[in-house]
Amino acid sequence: MNILVINAGSSSLKYQLIDMTTESVRAKGNVERIGLDGSVLKHQYNGNGKAEIKQDVQDHLEAFKLVIKAITDPEYGVIKDISKISAVGHRMVNGGERFIDPILLTDEIIETMKNEVIEFAPLHNPGALMGMEACRKLMPDTPMVVVVDTEFFKTLPRYAYMYGLPYDVYTQYKIRRYGAHGTSHKYVSLRAAKMLGKAPEEVKLITCHLGNGSSISAVSHGKAIDTSMGFTPLEGLIMGTRSGDLDPAVVTYLMEKKGMSPSEMNDYLNKESGILGISGVSSDLRDVEDAAVAGNERAQLAMDMLCYRAKKYIGSYIAALNGVDALVFTAGIGENNATVRNGICQGLENLGIKLDLEKNKVRGIEADISAEDSKVKVFVVPTNEELMIARETRSIVEGQN
Ligand code: ADP
Repeated sequence: MNILVINAGSSSLKYQLIDMTTESVRAKGNVERIGLDGSVLKHQYNGNGKAEIKQDVQDHLEAFKLVIKAITDPEYGVIKDISKISAVGHRMVNGGERFIDPILLTDEIIETMKNEVIEFAPLHNPGALMGMEACRKLMPDTPMVVVVDTEFFKTLPRYAYMYGLPYDVYTQYKIRRYGAHGTSHKYVSLRAAKMLGKAPEEVKLITCHLGNGSSISAVSHGKAIDTSMGFTPLEGLIMGTRSGDLDPAVVTYLMEKKGMSPSEMNDYLNKESGILGISGVSSDLRDVEDAAVAGNERAQLAMDMLCYRAKKYIGSYIAALNGVDALVFTAGIGENNATVRNGICQGLENLGIKLDLEKNKVRGIEADISAEDSKVKVFVVPTNEELMIARETRSIVEGQN
């Protein structure tokens, strides 16, 4: 059974074709710069085969046609025709409170989503919906499932997802904490339970998804009970270009001082702050780490702030969970950056977390990096959101038959 996983953004369309018998990737790639000059499809097939198609792509429908051409191409394709695709799984970042569980896609559902969910992820959801529409046009008879990233956080208790604002902003505007990266937190928490040799229901975990966008979740017995991102992905950790937690008074003060409009302020907090804004070097932590090593004090400050904020979240989630069995690192930084993992874990010995500095040198593979005498296990687990989406898609489609 082949499942095609689609992650569509406003100007990009990422795809993976997964063989579910072996859970292996047959082909994957990305159409970049949809609707812009210089669109290109970068395609990988059968492990290390690579192809690049440079072709102007006006919209998601054209992008999707190109994807199908790539995966069925006689030279670099992996299937003969689209009848070999059993189902398609679409990623959606946030479906508000209306769309939470994975759902079989129909034209009516797409229409309802257009009316009801765009505002919950204005940067992501329009692209995702265009991807779904394009896909349905080209493969009308193939079952499709939408997997919503916030699904994993549906188990957050009300006292964790409500803000300390007047209650009617929740009833009127649905302002509450939704979280993000749920598919990744779910995948790595399932892996971590396996690495502990236990069922997910038997363990308490803290999962750290540290990438360009970053979030930490507390997972109790298979269920997320808290997470650091909120109404939008701006809340929580210090990220590549996002400020994370902030005294809200700073926002209104700065808007007055700098004469900024709400959308300018939104861009300022989401695109110019965080590691980039503090260091003045880059949003990419590799550059910032190099600068810090070379003596750049602001770069070092940015690294220190990132680690300190993450450490505080871990401490508070140990309290929320009343203890933890394993701490899990994933995503670009979590999987690859030993300095950050060490910076976060240092000083947590009293809470039972101790790294083995040799083992911590690992990059990009599943590993136990905790010291022999660490009470809490510390794991590196490469995330695999696409596989998680494919599994959920299969389970919904098989449930229909
Ligand atoms: P996104 O959130 O956009 O998916 P990633 O998960 O790829 O991003 O994370 C991007 C961050 O991870 C960057 O700060 C980058 O420095 C770091 N990163 C990604 N890959 C590596 C790597 N191979 N080695 C070191 N750092 C990496």
